[in-house]
Amino acid sequence: ASIKPDGTTTSVCGFCSTGCGLELHMKDGKAVNLSPSVDWPVNLGMACPKGWESLTVLKANDRATAPLLKGADGKLAPVSWDDAMKTFCERFQDIQAKHGNDSVAFLSTGQIATEEMFFLGALAKFGMGMLHGDGNTRQCMATAVVAYKESFGFDAPPFTYADFEESDVLVFVGSNLCIAHPIMWERVLRNPHQPKIIVIDPRRTETAVAATHHLPLKPKTDLALLYTIANVLIENDWIDTNYIANHTVGFDDFRQYVAEYRLEDSLENCGLPSADVMEVVKAIHEGQRVSFWWTMGVNQSHQGVRTAQAIINLAMMTGNIGRPGTGANSVTGQCNAMGSRLFSNTTNLLGGHDFRNADHRQKIADTLNIPVGNIPTENSWSYDGIMEGIRRGDIRGLWVIATNPAHSWIHQKEAHETLSKLDFLVVQDMYHSTETAVRADLVLPAAGWGEKEGTFINSERRIGLHKKVVPAPGQALADFQIFRLVSHYWGCGSLFENWKTPEDVFQAMKQCSQGQPCDITGIRDYRMLDDARGVQWPTRQDESTGDDWMPAQQRRLFEDGQYFHADGKARFIFEPPQAPNEEPSEDFPLRLLTGRGTAAQWHTQTKTSKSAVLRTLYSTTLLIDVSPDDAAALQLLPHDKVLVQSARGEIEARVNITGSVQSGHVFLPMHNELTNRLTFPQFDSYSRQPSYKNAAVRIVKP
Ligand code: SF4
Repeated sequence: ASIKPDGTTTSVCGFCSTGCGLELHMKDGKAVNLSPSVDWPVNLGMACPKGWESLTVLKANDRATAPLLKGADGKLAPVSWDDAMKTFCERFQDIQAKHGNDSVAFLSTGQIATEEMFFLGALAKFGMGMLHGDGNTRQCMATAVVAYKESFGFDAPPFTYADFEESDVLVFVGSNLCIAHPIMWERVLRNPHQPKIIVIDPRRTETAVAATHHLPLKPKTDLALLYTIANVLIENDWIDTNYIANHTVGFDDFRQYVAEYRLEDSLENCGLPSADVMEVVKAIHEGQRVSFWWTMGVNQSHQGVRTAQAIINLAMMTGNIGRPGTGANSVTGQCNAMGSRLFSNTTNLLGGHDFRNADHRQKIADTLNIPVGNIPTENSWSYDGIMEGIRRGDIRGLWVIATNPAHSWIHQKEAHETLSKLDFLVVQDMYHSTETAVRADLVLPAAGWGEKEGTFINSERRIGLHKKVVPAPGQALADFQIFRLVSHYWGCGSLFENWKTPEDVFQAMKQCSQGQPCDITGIRDYRMLDDARGVQWPTRQDESTGDDWMPAQQRRLFEDGQYFHADGKARFIFEPPQAPNEEPSEDFPLRLLTGRGTAAQWHTQTKTSKSAVLRTLYSTTLLIDVSPDDAAALQLLPHDKVLVQSARGEIEARVNITGSVQSGHVFLPMHNELTNRLTFPQFDSYSRQPSYKNAAVRIVKP
């Protein structure tokens, strides 16, 4: 029988960084259904299949409903929260006593509320004495963070989603927006200016098919291509000399450097006819409002930071920044990657501060009323450094929160060996069945989106509120409550005694942000976030005109041409391209590309595999995309069973013959648990982000 709701409340979606608003239809205090919000400035009444299925994925049989502790028989069995917390503290404190505080680390996530990340980071580093903790945002956004910090002086994506509709030229580099961010793509489709859409991607992706220009470059030549485009713009005097002179530093050196990237060498350097490159350069020159967008094709590269900065350089040199429809715009991945970037206490000290800066440490200590000596004076190891630390035996205890490294970390065999070296592994997750949770010594059952409240920060810097609309199953607790329990049992609860609710922590976040580019002191409370349909940072207290004040719905950065470096100017940064450390060879002649395979799946499928609706929208059989030429050469037919082998492992897949990949390339979706058996562990030198999209493989018939 149909259930008639008796009320509705709003929330933001908990999957991707788009941050769509949802209406939760309630009956007797519980959500019974949902629909996209029509008045949310993000999604304007739209949602992708994942958003529509947000409630369904909560009802899975493999939800963790009680703490699970590994017994002498090696099996996980239910225990009380009291036993779980005592064991958690005894084991981690014992490891710290024997091997030093740094021997216990945490791996966090872009999936939990900002207030939870803030609490976790403060608890782990200021309360439990840990130095090393990183997030799974290292796998998706670290490159953009470093690129923005170096170029702009702060991690500051400048755009607002209205820019999708206001550009007359949109350039997508390494972004299959149509699949990865389908509602953002819908915003592009609403653009009334008949825009030119340029896609730079080795694959003929769904976005490339819809583009007016597709540059199917050779993989890992994006940096050379972007330098070529810059050089041709300069040679033709198609640059904004006023903007460069007034708002940037370093252009003359950049101009000199890129002079060697000649248009006529495009075929040799990037596999692209020079006429095709010239058409794109002309489109950028002729555009009045050109926006540049990038995501994982750039970020997950061995030279991602410099590639992102090459995109930033193009926006600056053509004056396409700080105006409607422009910008050098990194699109984030997870619902709260942006929260993690600024408020997780991993890469930055809370609020975008610096652990190595004594003034920043004092400010945070005073703001939170904690001893300044509790704040580490150095940065954490990055994710790969933590994994290496485990391999060396320096790290012996690991607390993993809402992420799944046994599936998602690059070079899976090595990752599994690494995790097995730990003396004690704690996994805090909604599901006890993840590839990482089944390896844990202790599983802490966590509530998921919809079962707790807090905020997410989306790609356009909009802070949105998500609410508790259904109860968590069994004894599962909100991550926030788990952190409160840990602080109590650990013996450091007095440091955080004022943080009784997520909104208490939100107020602390506000104070930590004061005076920073991400200042949110003007957001009064959760109610204001709800009423305003999300608020973008910055929103400062001194903007407020009174108790009823509401900030503008769209905020763009750098409209005044002022950047966050001390001199107010942005930097041109460049470096010669380098080949990746693994290239196709005689033994492994094909280049493996990986990426999002479908709009109906999310990351390691932890949640999305639980929805029958979503499962019907993608192939549950692992398909490898092979070009018609390679299929003919290897005598492969559609759906043939093959083994895909790299120097690190072997997997079984079925053949999908498609013109979307070039000869010599194959493509696998990242969602499948097998794909990372093949990937090659190389990292961007500056961001330490893994380069998932390049490995040498071969295909053999079994
Ligand atoms: Fe949720 Fe992203 Fe889909 Fe919007 S596009 S409904 S935020 S998963």
